[in-house]
Parts: sequence; structure tokens; C-alpha cells
Amino acid sequence: MQTGMIGLEKIFSKSSFTREDIVYLLGLQGTEKTQLFAESARIKEKHVGNKVYFRGLIEFSNVCLKNCLYCGIRLDNKDVHRYNLTDGEILDAARFAADNKYGSLVLQSGEIQHLNFTDRMEKLLTAIHQATGGKLRITLSCGEQSQDTYKRWHNSGAHRYLLRIESSNPELYKKLHPNDENHSFQRRLDSLYGLQKTGYQVGTGVMIGLPFQTLDDLAGDLLFMQQFNIDMVGMGPYLEHEETPLYEFRDKLLPREERFQLTLKMIAVLRILMKDINIAATTALQAIDKLGREKAIKIGANVIMPNITPGKYRDDYLLYQDKPCTDENPDDCKTCLEARIALADNVIAYGEWGDSKYYSERIKKS
Ligand code: SF4
Repeated sequence: MQTGMIGLEKIFSKSSFTREDIVYLLGLQGTEKTQLFAESARIKEKHVGNKVYFRGLIEFSNVCLKNCLYCGIRLDNKDVHRYNLTDGEILDAARFAADNKYGSLVLQSGEIQHLNFTDRMEKLLTAIHQATGGKLRITLSCGEQSQDTYKRWHNSGAHRYLLRIESSNPELYKKLHPNDENHSFQRRLDSLYGLQKTGYQVGTGVMIGLPFQTLDDLAGDLLFMQQFNIDMVGMGPYLEHEETPLYEFRDKLLPREERFQLTLKMIAVLRILMKDINIAATTALQAIDKLGREKAIKIGANVIMPNITPGKYRDDYLLYQDKPCTDENPDDCKTCLEARIALADNVIAYGEWGDSKYYSERIKKS
């Protein structure tokens, strides 16, 4: 085990990190933590620059057929008002993104595996590209689907897909999900491989500061992302929701500020490990610290997902509680983000797709 600044320099000089190195980095405090953030900021500047890419986020439906134990919109939460945007509302939001030069769009929903849903998305993807003159890259975040569905959506113009692994430790994954086939770790892994095989830019992510989670688990998560050749990552602090079964273990949680700091360290270490991937500064960071996303941008993240879901639906997409910006309209969100990103000495790359550089290299090599 390394100790002090010398240990830190030694780790930074390595071409790859061991699990023990990562655990050490995630435990840093004080000046050593500051040094970690300086190193990740340097690597970010060198490999992806100081541009921040916007992905306009449309949470188009909170209908979900699954029951993840941490999630506020899980099927068994009967207090949720379920909604489903019309195609017209989704197209309006997509036009807003294109008109405001966002470059990219994320369509996110609960998980529904049904032919009608597959058909609807296929048509919608084509309609969005037509309505916006092909100006937008489209990311989908609609959970586990069949290989055929992934292919159909890809052929209709979805270029990227986000599917969080949530935890790469199968034992911890089991504690976060009901023990049935519908929530199997293996199925989640197979879906990620299926997405990669289809040709998507594949994004994943984990929750940080979960009950039962150790630094060793988190180190394993980062190594998983590296070994899987993931192109994009969105990870944030775990925020408990009182209408979920996992809330029972709230006394096992780190204080929120510690979960926040641990998330920043995860982003910093990931940036050093995977220098040219896209890393999102997630909204969950802002739920703990008002300047949370800016802090993440400063030390390694390069993507922000402004919420462009029509305001009246936002209170119903509460995966966790205290979610910020649910009462604002898309314009407010854009304006506040511009000021915040300037504070982090970064600039918004308006009108650019901002594809993952890592993905381009991966495709060239394959
Ligand atoms: S995490 Fe996703 S799949 Fe799981 S219950 Fe929530 S919306 Fe559904």
C-alpha cells in the first residue's frame, strides 16, 4: 500500500491502475484529494479540452414494468402519477433542442418490453430526424430490450444508448433488485454486450454511496468500465427515496456530502483511467450541492444533460427525492447552465454532436 504524495505520484505515472491503486485514490482526503483533482483536470484538458456538450434530456414516460428496489418510479410504487408524452410533445421538445443548437438529445423512459413500444420508438426516431433536419444525435435510455429491438432502433437513427449497470458486483446488484429473471445481472450484462455488438456508442454508470457498497466495489466498477471499453459514463451519488424498499437501509448510508465527494473522486479516477470517453455531470450531483455539476465539469466531466421535458411532467419523474429544476421550463434550465459552465472555465459546444472520441478510436481499431 502506497502512502503520501510519493505514493500518489507513483500511481499517476503508471499506465494502468490496479484495484488496490483505485481503492487508495478513492480514499484520498485533504491535499492529496486536491492533487487527484488537479491531475484529472489536467488530463481532461489535454484529451477532451474544455468543451461541454449538451444533451437535451426528454423523460418521455415514467411507466415502467420493473421494480428496482432503489427507484422512485418502480412498478409497485402506486403513489406515482404515470405519464406518457405524446409524439407531438416529444417532437416539440426535439425541435427546441435543435433550435437551441444542443447537438444531441436523450430520450429516457422506464423499461417496457413490448412490440408496440418498439414500433412507436422506431417511428419516433425517424420523425425526430425529419423534424430537425438530421441535426441531432439521439441517445436512448429505455432499459433492457431484445437484440432485434436494439437493431431496429439503431437502424432508425439512434446512435447512442445508456444502460447503467448500477453495480458491477453481482452480489451487490442482487441486493438492489428483486431476485427474479426480470432483474438478472446476467441479462443486464448481455444487454450491454448486445448494444456494443449492434454498433451503438454505449454508456453505462453506477450509483455511488449505496448501502452495503465498499470502496472495493467502486474500484471494481471503474475497472469494469475500462475492461468493457465503455464509451460514455453517467454516474452519480445514490439518493434515497422513501417510497422504495431500499430506504429501509438509510441508516447504513454515508452522509450526503461524503457521497458527493466520493462521486467526484470516481469521476476524477475514471477520467485518468479512460482519458477520452464522455463523462456526464449528472443532475443527482446538483441535488446535494448547488454547484455540483460545475465541480464535476472542472475535474473531469464533459457532458451535461439539460432537462427539456415539458415542465408539467417533471415532478412525476422522481427517481429520487430532492431532484432539482423540476419546476423550471427548458429556457430557465439553459440559461442557468450557461452561467454555471462559464463558472467552471468551460465553454458550451453549441451545435456539435460531441461524439465520444474513445468510440471513434474503438471503431477504427475493430
Ligand atoms: S431504475 Fe429504471 S428499470 Fe428500474 S424501476 Fe426505475 S425506471 Fe424502472
